[in-house]
Amino acid sequence: MTNGKWAARLERAADLASEHTFAAEALRFYIRITEYQQTLASFFDTRCGAARKFRAPGTLRQELDLSVLLPHLGPFLSLVESCAPSALAQSARELREGAATHQEEILTEFWRADADAPSAAVSPAEPLLCRIFLQPYAEYLAEHTEHPPFDGTSLRCPLCSGKPQAGILRPEGDGAKRWLLCSLCASEWEFRRIVCPACGEEDAQKLAVYTTGDIGHMRVEACDTCRHYIKTVDLTQNGRAVPVVDELAMIPLDLWATEHGYRKIQTNVLGL
Ligand SMILES: [Zn+2]
Ligand SMILES: [Zn+2]
Repeated sequence: MTNGKWAARLERAADLASEHTFAAEALRFYIRITEYQQTLASFFDTRCGAARKFRAPGTLRQELDLSVLLPHLGPFLSLVESCAPSALAQSARELREGAATHQEEILTEFWRADADAPSAAVSPAEPLLCRIFLQPYAEYLAEHTEHPPFDGTSLRCPLCSGKPQAGILRPEGDGAKRWLLCSLCASEWEFRRIVCPACGEEDAQKLAVYTTGDIGHMRVEACDTCRHYIKTVDLTQNGRAVPVVDELAMIPLDLWATEHGYRKIQTNVLGL
């Protein structure tokens, strides 16, 4: 199952890179890091086993096995150095060459707190490096967790407390249901249609949806109360979309939202 998920992301990224020149360079970087994430995920499957554990809601991050993770950090950072934009590549090199104690500290702090700006960070790019590196581990834990049904109101991932990366609209009866996609463990949870996923605003007058004809299956959902936005992938419009990849690729919507004074709830692995 795991391999199918990663392969689908890679295939979709290659398709979108050839269809959209504005996203081609970013998606080439995404493909490189996703190939590495896929390798790491296979390793976790082998090393950590297939058993599913019961974990209480919100407790996923109580586990962090650095002895399993740290041997992979150096090769991961070397890969980022070879294919990332220059600022991120430089941060990867500094983290790779830095003290082992700092590597452990920054990973632990990011994991425990979902901190976008951990106090241990020596560069703004370090939390992003932590996110990319730890995603396959978080996804492995999430896939091997028995959990009760998620309710439809949580602003954070019910498993790991991560912020939502994207919304997803899936066909349901004559309409569509909305789900949120976790930015760390890639779990999805159902979420009401007319609620801001950042602040919980329910007044439809304050919640705006922006679409563009060129990218008909993607929309910006913005809140004029907290000025946050999220991009939502409408699978009723395009069933071939892979939400985690389409969210990354549709960069013009992020530029539009930023120009109009909205901040994203959670930046993605491209830092957008
Ligand atoms: Zn999560
Ligand atoms: Zn809001």
